[in-house]
Amino acid sequence: MSRARVLILNSALGPLDYRVPHGMTVEPGSIVVAPLGPRQLLGVVWEPEYMPSEAEVGDNRLRPLLARADVPPLGEALRRLVEWTAAYYLAPPAAVLRMCLSSTSALEGARSVTEYRATGDVPDRLTPQRAQALERIGDRQGLIRELAMTADVSDAVIRGLVKAGALEGVEVDIDSPFPLPDPAYGAPVLSDDQRAAADRLVADVTAHRFAPTLLDGVTGSGKTETYFEAVAEAIRLGRQTIVLLPEIALTEPFLKRFHDRFGCEPVAWHSGLRSTQRRRAWRAIASGEALVTVGARSALFLPYRNLGLIVVDEAHETSFKQEDGVHYHARDVAVMRGKFESCPVILASATPAIETRQQVALGRYAEVQLPGRYGPAELPTIEPIDLIATPPERGRWLAPKLVRMLAERLERREQSLLFLNRRGYAPLTLCRTCGHRFQCPNCTAWMVEHRLTRRLACHHCGHVEPVPRACPECQSEDSLVACGPGVERIADEVALLFPEAKTAVVTSDTIWSPAKAAEFVGRMEAGDIDIVVGTQLVTKGYHFPNLTLVGVVDADLGLEGGDLRAAERTFQQIRQVSGRAGRGEKPGHVLIQTHAPNAQVMQALVTGEADAFYEAETEARRDAGAPPFGRYAAIIVSSEDQAVAQETARLVGASAPRVEGMAVYGPAPAPLAMLRGRHRYRLLVHARRALDVQDVIRDWLGGLDWSAKARVAVDVDPYNF
Ligand code: ADP
Ligand code: ZN
Ligand code: ZN
Repeated sequence: MSRARVLILNSALGPLDYRVPHGMTVEPGSIVVAPLGPRQLLGVVWEPEYMPSEAEVGDNRLRPLLARADVPPLGEALRRLVEWTAAYYLAPPAAVLRMCLSSTSALEGARSVTEYRATGDVPDRLTPQRAQALERIGDRQGLIRELAMTADVSDAVIRGLVKAGALEGVEVDIDSPFPLPDPAYGAPVLSDDQRAAADRLVADVTAHRFAPTLLDGVTGSGKTETYFEAVAEAIRLGRQTIVLLPEIALTEPFLKRFHDRFGCEPVAWHSGLRSTQRRRAWRAIASGEALVTVGARSALFLPYRNLGLIVVDEAHETSFKQEDGVHYHARDVAVMRGKFESCPVILASATPAIETRQQVALGRYAEVQLPGRYGPAELPTIEPIDLIATPPERGRWLAPKLVRMLAERLERREQSLLFLNRRGYAPLTLCRTCGHRFQCPNCTAWMVEHRLTRRLACHHCGHVEPVPRACPECQSEDSLVACGPGVERIADEVALLFPEAKTAVVTSDTIWSPAKAAEFVGRMEAGDIDIVVGTQLVTKGYHFPNLTLVGVVDADLGLEGGDLRAAERTFQQIRQVSGRAGRGEKPGHVLIQTHAPNAQVMQALVTGEADAFYEAETEARRDAGAPPFGRYAAIIVSSEDQAVAQETARLVGASAPRVEGMAVYGPAPAPLAMLRGRHRYRLLVHARRALDVQDVIRDWLGGLDWSAKARVAVDVDPYNF
């Protein structure tokens, strides 16, 4: 009789034991279907010693496994990664495992799937629902379920349209192979610096050893070209590579660059994929056939069969930190995966995080540097504009000097970029008569006016409302005023100043898909845009040789709030956006509008002397015992019921253990005291580096019982606090 321990997906239960029926063979990592009550769930066979089971079930009471998927088992390295991630981030192993399996892909026996698309025929009976469906589907293709969701109608409406001939089936082969990248295809001649850096990265790939390396090079130094050499080596050896990007909007330009270098596109993995594309990619990754995968942080948990290299591009980006579900940091998990897989990990950045610099200082990570820009391009000149001494005109946001320089670029037919990290028209809307402000009904946050869509939107939960004509409080008409600028308002000012200029607003509202990003890049390259007004979405990755001026509209914005990383983040963001200027032959110029031109961070930006700034920041962190010298964990208690949230938070706080080297602050209302309709309290745990804070928290929370109406989540190494 053989039994198997199975970690079941979608279950809070932990591992369960099953009987392996006659004729089935399983091994650790095998993907199986297991019965649970009346349900059939996907699970993965695990070594019993790694996953102790809480309830020992006698052989005679075991239920049999139902099926084993016909795909390779999850490798040992990935299984160890799942365990590590679950333990470090205090998450249920099943929640981590869920990121490894894209539910149905593993089980599909079928080699092809039927998707549907419009035929162009209009059905005889065109109900309003059918008309809506056809309009929203447009030229999209997908499964019945996906099209129904896109069109916001029931599956039956879609099926009806198929019957009526308005939609037709298309067979998609989910096992059709991906093209093989050619390592010699577009190989550039590297500069001496690039060659030296590339040789070191390549050597680690050849040796197939765990080697985390910081690839530290100024913007435009050719970091991508350099790490592409390591990718080429992995391809030559037939090993797989992951390239992680911080933003799905960056995927499209990356695909293009990859194509130029390797003659075909890599496999893309991100939330914008259709389920068929997802299935095809997952299977090719699991079989080892997909050699290079580029994607968002979730690509890190896929079951690569033969991983030889991990690259984290723009490794300092805070978007690598997942803010819901499993609160993992993709940069740190990437290093752990490299460790378990015995493969090199390259962290590429022009502005490395203090945590990463510290690992280099301690000798745990190697560092290779690219000190100058590639080719004739020079780093841009950076100059502060003192908003107190030379303010913009009344009611305007752009100072005279910035306006003058914009005019010059227009005359010379060069492109400019205005950076403001605020979506929408204005961050706050209020009634001039009674002072009423628009707050989100679900969150402790102001609603942000978006003029392009004529709506008020909450940037935390997505709640939207039309902009009312009259104040809902005092009924005055036309009394609403916008306070402060967002990108749309800056674009208005530009239109007013330069009516002939072609302007584009680039935010997650306008660039919400890789296709939109590609369209934007195309327009920039064609010279179809003179002035870009954008949020952090445009600060990185892009290479526009004719862009010679960058204006930072409000450099002080990120310094508000007193976040631990505020100065570091401001430095990184402005350095990154400055890096967009002067990447071609023409010199670049950067103007930084600030109220504090003498602040250390502004000085570091202007002089380009990062080291002094980083050292001061590092010392301040050391004094405060902040990361990387100490660690934090946030415990967030939430409930739809305010009293329950408060009472549970009090209970958690009152039972905090006394541990040498650890302090617990709070509970206090969380920075967003209400989010998506839930009231939130926070306890902040601050501990010495050497303390196993996860262990302490596990014991602490494990011994507590709280109301079923409350949720307690732990965020280890939290950001944004
Ligand atoms: P980074 O990632 O460091 O900002 P990139 O890799 O984007 O820099 O390089 C900046 C520009 O210089 C890109 O257009 C790139 O193609 C070009 N470039 C860099 N190195 C080389 C090289 N060795 N040969 C040709 N072009 C290069
Ligand atoms: Zn009012
Ligand atoms: Zn909200």
